[in-house]
Amino acid sequence: MIKQGRSNLTKPIILGIVAFLTIIFTTFNPFSVAQSQSMSLRVGTEPTFPPFEMPSEDGSSLIGFDIDLMKAIGQEVGLDVQFESIPFDGLIPALQSGTLDAVVSGMTITADRAQSITFSSPYFKAGLAIAVQENNDEIKSFDDLQGRKIAVQIGTTGAMEADKIPNAQVISFDSAVLALQELINGKVDAVVNDAPVTLFAVKDAQLRGVKVVGELVTEEFYGIGLPLNSEKVMLVNFGLYEILRNGTYNQIYEKWFAGEPYTLPIIAPSLIGTGSSDFISTALNRGDRQSVFMLLLQRLPQGAIVTLILTACSIFFGLIGGSLVAFGLISHNAILKNALRVYVEFFRGTPMLVQLFIIYFGLPAVFQQIGLQWSLDRFPAAVIALSLNVTAYLAEIIRGGIESIDKGQWEACESLGMSRWETMKEVIMPQAFRRILPPLGNEFITLIKDTSLVAVIGFAELFRQGQLIVASTFQAFEVYIAVALVYLVLTTLSSFGFKWLEQKMNPIAQAKRKSALQKAEA
Ligand code: GLN
Repeated sequence: MIKQGRSNLTKPIILGIVAFLTIIFTTFNPFSVAQSQSMSLRVGTEPTFPPFEMPSEDGSSLIGFDIDLMKAIGQEVGLDVQFESIPFDGLIPALQSGTLDAVVSGMTITADRAQSITFSSPYFKAGLAIAVQENNDEIKSFDDLQGRKIAVQIGTTGAMEADKIPNAQVISFDSAVLALQELINGKVDAVVNDAPVTLFAVKDAQLRGVKVVGELVTEEFYGIGLPLNSEKVMLVNFGLYEILRNGTYNQIYEKWFAGEPYTLPIIAPSLIGTGSSDFISTALNRGDRQSVFMLLLQRLPQGAIVTLILTACSIFFGLIGGSLVAFGLISHNAILKNALRVYVEFFRGTPMLVQLFIIYFGLPAVFQQIGLQWSLDRFPAAVIALSLNVTAYLAEIIRGGIESIDKGQWEACESLGMSRWETMKEVIMPQAFRRILPPLGNEFITLIKDTSLVAVIGFAELFRQGQLIVASTFQAFEVYIAVALVYLVLTTLSSFGFKWLEQKMNPIAQAKRKSALQKAEA
C-alpha cells in the first residue's frame, strides 16, 4: 500500500518536474538558441571568379551567379546565408575544420574531393578552356600544350589537368585573374581555367590581347560543398530542386549568362561508381597518410632549397645595397641623403607583398602600355623585390652600426693622415660589422620567413610546395605543420650560424681561446 501510495505520489512529482523542465527548456532553451543560430549558414567563397563570385562595384558585398543561387536556396529552406571570402585552396580545409558550413565557389565535383567533403547535387555545367595570347596560332588544343609554360589557379581542376600534360611547366597562382595577367604579360604560353570564367574575362571584362581556344576541354559540374557526411546536404539539395522547379534558377541563370541552362543530372557523372554518389558520402579510408608523407619528403626539401637560394641571393645584394645606402645616409650630400631617406621610408613603410606585385605584375603592364615588350622572370623579380626591401632595413642597421663608433676615432685617423675611405675600411667597418651582426642575424631569419610571400607570383618555394600538397591531399594540418618545422630548422640553423660568427669575430673571446690553446700546448 505504502509502496503504491508512494508510486502514486512519485508519478505526479515526476510529471510535474518534466512539465516544469519542458516549460523552462521551451522558454529559455539553450539548444533552441543554438538551433536558431545553427540556422545561419557560414558559406565560404573565393571571390575572384566572375561571373560566379566577385565583389560588388562599391566593394561592400559579393555578387555573382553562385551568390544569388546560394541566397535563393537559403531563402527556400530557411537558412540565413552568411558569406565569407577564403582562398580557393583553403575552402576544403575550412570545411574539414568546421570553420565553414558550406562552400559555393564554382567548385567542380570530383571523386577525389568527394572523399574529403560532401557535395550537393550539381548546380552548373562547366568545363575547362585554354586561353592564349591573341597572336598565338600554335596552340589550338590540349595536345599542343606539351612542353609549354602554363599558368593555373592553385588547387583547381585546371591545375590538375595541366599537371597531366607531358613536359609542361605548370605555374600556380592564387587566383585565375593573376594567371591571366601572367598570360597578358607574355610570361606563359597558356592558361587552363574554367571556360565560363575565361570567356567572361575575355568578352565581358574585355581582357585585351587574349583569346580562348579549345573551349570545354572537359565536362565538369559545380556543386555546393559541405563537411563530410553533413546532414545539411538534404536541405541544400531540397532548396536546389525547389528553385530549379519554380523557375528561380532560370531567372538567376538568365541574369548572369545568355541562353538556356543545361539540364542538370541529380548526381555528377564524376561520382558515379566511386561510392561517393550517395547524398551523404561515406568517408573512404583513403590510406593516403603514407603518400602524403612521401610527397612531403619529396617536395619540401626542393622547396627549402629554393627558399635558401632566394634568401642567400637577397641578403647578398641587400648587404651590398645596404652598405652603399648607409654610406649615402651618413654622407654630407643633402640631396643624396634625402633621396635615400625617401627610398628607405618607402620600402620600410609599404608591405613587401605590394612591392612584389608592383615589380612583377605592375611594371611589365606599364611597359606594355607604352609599347615596350618587357617583363621580368619570377626569379629576378623575387630577388629584386626581396633585395630592395632588405637593402632598406640593412641600410638603417649598418648606418646605426657605423654611427655607434666613437667620433674620436675618425679624428684620430684624420690626424694620422688617413683618408675618409681608409678610415671607414680599416677602422670603422670592422668594428661596426661586429656590432651589426646580431641585427643582421635577425634580418636573415626574418628574410627566410618572408620569402614565403613570393609564392603569390607562382614561385615553388617551401610554403608553395606545402600549399600544392594540400591542394591535392586536403591534409592541411599535417602538411602545414611539416612546412613550419622545415622553416624552424632553417631559422634555427641560421641563428646558430650567426652565433658562431659572432663568437668568431669577438676579439676578446678569440684572445681567450688562443691563450687557452697556448696554455694547453705548454
Ligand atoms: N571549377 C574549378 C575547380 O573546382 C575552379 C574553381 C575556382 O577557381 N573557383 O577546381
